[in-house]
Amino acid sequence: MNLHEYQSKQLFARYAIPVPQGKVAASADEAVAAARELGGSLWVVKAQVHAGGRGKAGGVKLARDFDAVRSSAAAMLGSTLVTHQTGPAGLPVHQVYVETGSKIEREIYLSLVLNREAGRLAFVASAAGGMDIEEVAEHAPEKILRVNIHPAAGLQDYQCRQLAFGLGLKGEQVAQFGRIAQALYRLYLEQDASLVEINPLILTGEGRLVALDAKINIEDNALFRHKDLAAWRDPTQEDAMERKAAEHELNYVSLDGNIACMVNGAGLAMATMDLIQLHGGKPANFLDVGGGATKERVAAAFKLILSNRDVRAILINIFGGIVRCDMIAEGIIAAVKEVGVNLPVVVRLEGTNAPAARELLAASRLAITAATDLTDAATKAVKLAGARK
Ligand code: GDP
Ligand code: MN
Repeated sequence: MNLHEYQSKQLFARYAIPVPQGKVAASADEAVAAARELGGSLWVVKAQVHAGGRGKAGGVKLARDFDAVRSSAAAMLGSTLVTHQTGPAGLPVHQVYVETGSKIEREIYLSLVLNREAGRLAFVASAAGGMDIEEVAEHAPEKILRVNIHPAAGLQDYQCRQLAFGLGLKGEQVAQFGRIAQALYRLYLEQDASLVEINPLILTGEGRLVALDAKINIEDNALFRHKDLAAWRDPTQEDAMERKAAEHELNYVSLDGNIACMVNGAGLAMATMDLIQLHGGKPANFLDVGGGATKERVAAAFKLILSNRDVRAILINIFGGIVRCDMIAEGIIAAVKEVGVNLPVVVRLEGTNAPAARELLAASRLAITAATDLTDAATKAVKLAGARK
């Protein structure tokens, strides 16, 4: 689950990571009141969406008086912000964050992520932080520093110094950086984050390090032990289909192809998607109905994949081990009764009660194409989807 910038900064503040003073506002009036309360003579109005790249898309504006705060907030609120991270549909802006403006001496990039190859948490940092970090990563990868953290030893002070020196920090800044890095590491572990990113971490005119932006991703599977964070969820920023899937405890990810997949088991679902691609098609989703699927859950899943307008064919690939194939079939039929379906359905069913399932499906009103194996299923689905463009 993603957090908004203002929520992430609230967490940062709890860990004594320096952030500018700020207030959330849901209207232009509230934004002006926030600026007034903050005081000073420079403010930043920032659109709160679950995406970066706001600066380049007009979602971050400096304001030198209340009128400018008002007009920036008014322009952002209620709009849809499209950045290079949102996709063409963009994300709705329901809140802005009004902050005391900072004087920027330097912009540093700093993040803590799981390095899957090393199996360790890793700090990634660059002295060339700011809005063009993606270009730095692509064209000047040598400017990116990486430090892996041994899980038993934890983040060592020498590693913090290594990063700080690599970033060109000097004197007191090195110690400041160390405190920030240690706090980030603690936050990451204690809050079950999967990503913590500060871009930019700035050096102010007074030589202080301040987190000017904040991005935190919390591991969904750990949310049950962070009720406070779970309450911060903002459904308006999430994919509607994925949200629906989560309500039914389905593992679902929207993709941009046109062949919907319904599979049991994440590994089999990945393999199914691979085969679709191999045979020239594109999957419309990843969907694992799970080993403990009920008829109701299967019905919900089937309705979900049907609600995607881009879908041209459906591939059902079930290997009945724990799950019974006939129960899957019942779920599909129940869903079809409710919503109807006029798309070709390719079915590959093997395992427990597969013959009974095939009979049930054959007796339904679905335009079923039976497949003998995975390759056969993928080829047929690709062909049928292609025929319906
Ligand atoms: P992002 O584009 O979504 O990553 O949003 P950021 O919060 O990173 O802001 C984008 C850029 O706006 C930053 O890289 C800064 O250059 C600029 N910016 C943000 N806050 C301030 C501020 O307080 N003062 C100044 N001078 N620039 C700011
Ligand atoms: Mn940023």
